[in-house]
Amino acid sequence: MCSNCFSSEYEKFENQKEFDKLSHDIKDKLNNNTLKELCYFSGTNDKPLIKILGIGFGVKEKGEEHYYLYECKYCNTKWKLSLPENAYRGFFLKVIE
Ligand SMILES: [Zn+2]
Repeated sequence: MCSNCFSSEYEKFENQKEFDKLSHDIKDKLNNNTLKELCYFSGTNDKPLIKILGIGFGVKEKGEEHYYLYECKYCNTKWKLSLPENAYRGFFLKVIE
């Protein structure tokens, strides 16, 4: 992580406002070339471990996973974003390699 990165992670978004703020930050960082979008992952835990660009992601809970993967251009920290939908609150977490 570096000063260009995000300052906090979200285990879940408490409300729409919190998500909107983060979503805005992400757009800004994409626009000013701090962040790049690597891929969008969508799948189920039928495959317990997937590899994206050499990184393994374990799926902890049963069900589908959908998230966007971003990378900081300065320190190469990767972040994954899952969008909240109805009762599901999403998340925004640093990817531990
Ligand atoms: Zn960074």
